[in-house]
Amino acid sequence: MTAIRNLTIEDIEKADIRDYGMYTDSLAEKIKEYNAGGNGDDAAIVAALNNFDGSYELLKALKDKCESICAGIEKIAKLIKAKKRFVYLPEGCESFAKCLEKYAGKDLIIEYGIVPVREHRKSLILHLETARKAGDLALGNDYDNTPVKIEEIGGEAKTVFEMAYVPYGKKLSQLADVDKEQVKYVKAAGRLKDADYLETIIEKDMPLGDGVIRIYDTTCCIVDQVQKDVKANRSRSCGKCTFCREGLAQQDMRLDEIEDKAGVLRALDVMKKIGESMVYSTQCSIGEFSGLEAADSIDMFREEYEAHIKKKYCPTGACKSFIRMYVDPRKCDGCMVCLKACPDNCIEGMEGYIHIIEDDYCSKCDRCIEVCPQNAIVKTIEKAPALPDRMTKVGRFKRY
Ligand code: SF4
Ligand code: SF4
Ligand code: SF4
Repeated sequence: MTAIRNLTIEDIEKADIRDYGMYTDSLAEKIKEYNAGGNGDDAAIVAALNNFDGSYELLKALKDKCESICAGIEKIAKLIKAKKRFVYLPEGCESFAKCLEKYAGKDLIIEYGIVPVREHRKSLILHLETARKAGDLALGNDYDNTPVKIEEIGGEAKTVFEMAYVPYGKKLSQLADVDKEQVKYVKAAGRLKDADYLETIIEKDMPLGDGVIRIYDTTCCIVDQVQKDVKANRSRSCGKCTFCREGLAQQDMRLDEIEDKAGVLRALDVMKKIGESMVYSTQCSIGEFSGLEAADSIDMFREEYEAHIKKKYCPTGACKSFIRMYVDPRKCDGCMVCLKACPDNCIEGMEGYIHIIEDDYCSKCDRCIEVCPQNAIVKTIEKAPALPDRMTKVGRFKRY
């Protein structure tokens, strides 16, 4: 067993250990504030990922740090005279739990799922990585580093920097060579930033959220991306705070309307206001940050939202509902190959007649494009030209 020294609040203050994740409060201040609250027999410590973290990528870095995490929990528990120690892990992390139990014994209560913050109102809640840092300080290991991963999302989605501990003082752009011209926006700790954010130096007070810096390239549609995130956050919300439950439902509904070509401009201000209100009216990082993403996106990309609403046009072509599929009447020879291949039965036609795609029912699967021998099928984000609106014999359609 490695020798573990005792930690004082002054040691933690001197080491300038900050909480990790969505918040970067000083751990020493957190402990002092907690102790000033006089929690008596209810004093407890909870270590977990932030509730907002739905990727669990950090667990890849933390899986080798069980000894440090347990040492940190133990030392901080002593400083707050905690009667109970909890760790919350995502569902399915039993092997991680076993590893923690190996170092902490049965006194550590391991639960699964997001932290029920109302139940733990009287507990000191901190990030697993914060406990790791305090533990490494107690164990005499290097604690002055932080886990980061960088992903590119869009045309060529890939990881450009694997989850790893990096020393403070490095710039994000030093970790991964990214063409800034291709960057539309960057998401870090739930907030949206422009490409210059990649020049940020990683310091102790930099919120890293789930540890992943996501770089969205110019092929990404803001409406499409925010809609996916709002749906994911909504599915993870416990629904106990009205503003989180209703706020996410409202944002989801407004985004669906925009995607269904039924959006209205005033919805943008409503979504922004809801997002900003969620910060102050919810109990955990899910409510606080999921609302803000939509608000940030409207601040940064209002014109792109407006193109979807006013012009029914998705500038990147990423939103399937804004893509148009049609048969070029000059090229179609009425062979019926596409009609037979279409999984949605949304192509009309007869042998020798120009085929017609019923765009409203088309799932944009591209099967017809792949099979058409005449290359007659067009996929576009622009307006379709005048097309036959009834069965027309090949070669007879004149208005083009
Ligand atoms: S903010 Fe959302 S997830 Fe967090 S406690 Fe409230 S309802 Fe639950
Ligand atoms: S496969 Fe092409 S050429 Fe044949 S009917 Fe369909 S669109 Fe026309
Ligand atoms: S894209 Fe797919 S669903 Fe749409 S018309 Fe072609 S085959 Fe049918």
